[in-house]
Amino acid sequence: MIAAQGMALPPAPATTAGPAFDAFGRHIHYLRVSLTDKCNLRCVYCMPEQMVFRPSEELLTDEELFTVLRAASLLGFDKYRLTGGEPTVRPNLVEIVRYIAQLPGTREIAMTTNAIKLAKLAKPLAEAGLHRVNISLDSLDPDKFHRITRWGRLDDVLAGIAAAEEAGLTPIKINCVVVRNFNEEDLIDLAASTLERNWQVRFLEVMPFADVAEFQQAAAVSTAEMMQRLEARFGTLVELDGGRLDGEAKVYRIPGAAGEIGFISPVSAPFCASCNRVRLTADGTLRLCLLKDGELDLKTPLRRGARAEELAGLIGAAIWRKPWGHELSSGVIPMSRIMSEIGG
Ligand code: SAM
Ligand code: SF4
Repeated sequence: MIAAQGMALPPAPATTAGPAFDAFGRHIHYLRVSLTDKCNLRCVYCMPEQMVFRPSEELLTDEELFTVLRAASLLGFDKYRLTGGEPTVRPNLVEIVRYIAQLPGTREIAMTTNAIKLAKLAKPLAEAGLHRVNISLDSLDPDKFHRITRWGRLDDVLAGIAAAEEAGLTPIKINCVVVRNFNEEDLIDLAASTLERNWQVRFLEVMPFADVAEFQQAAAVSTAEMMQRLEARFGTLVELDGGRLDGEAKVYRIPGAAGEIGFISPVSAPFCASCNRVRLTADGTLRLCLLKDGELDLKTPLRRGARAEELAGLIGAAIWRKPWGHELSSGVIPMSRIMSEIGG
């Protein structure tokens, strides 16, 4: 049963392991794991070019990360997504995937990546147990791609996608953040790629975070405008799955296309009611909602020797207090971290 927002929360159940529910009745079983805050690109909508990253000693070590992952497994988590920053710049990425794959209950391991390093990594990652990748690709025009990522080469990403397909990290999902005056016209070419390719190309609304919020809000393009642009070119898009969300995306097809088009609309159509996830930041906090600042510090208990069972108790209790959802529509912007410090 989902309780109304603002209602007093019932007391948390006294269990320390087993399925994790929040006070609104949502079953939380999906952990997004940010492996690093560092990145080999500097996308304009994500971080400033002179971004200062955390010192490595502030990030969880592999052993500390494994303890948190065991705690998640004790709580019945079955789905994991590796993200960042850029997850492929984390040392020992392949070993981390192998570790998650052997945890009790693991059903799916996915990764969100800019794919710059994927050409070499796709095969070993697939062999270690990675199932799928979501690849960020904001334009198929090499100059525009470079402008939006500041440092990126489109050919590296295309080689990464080819390697992912070859390694069976499918279905390939492409994430395109639509940014005013950068790539709003590139939607057409990206959508047209689904005519031949069995990709799911998903268009994301820009979300505002902390110091980058002013740029992000000025650059925002709504899903309604994206749809309008696409339907003007391709005709009416066919809604799939009766309008149900695939993850966060509402999915459509251009008539006759091999692949799909998705829209992720956290700003214009929040999907908080179906939220099933929490996030682990690279510096060891459990973030209960992407767009709300409440966090649970796990690094302090870890560094005083807490074991997985103790962490499971802390995480389970924090999940019970997971906020209903974000309040962007009331002007409440998350201020404590930017997207790359949380993990998308
Ligand atoms: N570096 C990886 C990548 O770019 O795929 C993983 C981390 S990135 C933070 C995860 C996803 O968030 C990417 O698809 C990225 O395009 C998206 N993203 C970053 N900043 C965003 C913002 N302000 N609003 C919406 N999406 C954003
Ligand atoms: Fe790096 Fe991903 Fe942010 Fe781009 S969106 S700067 S690739 S973390």
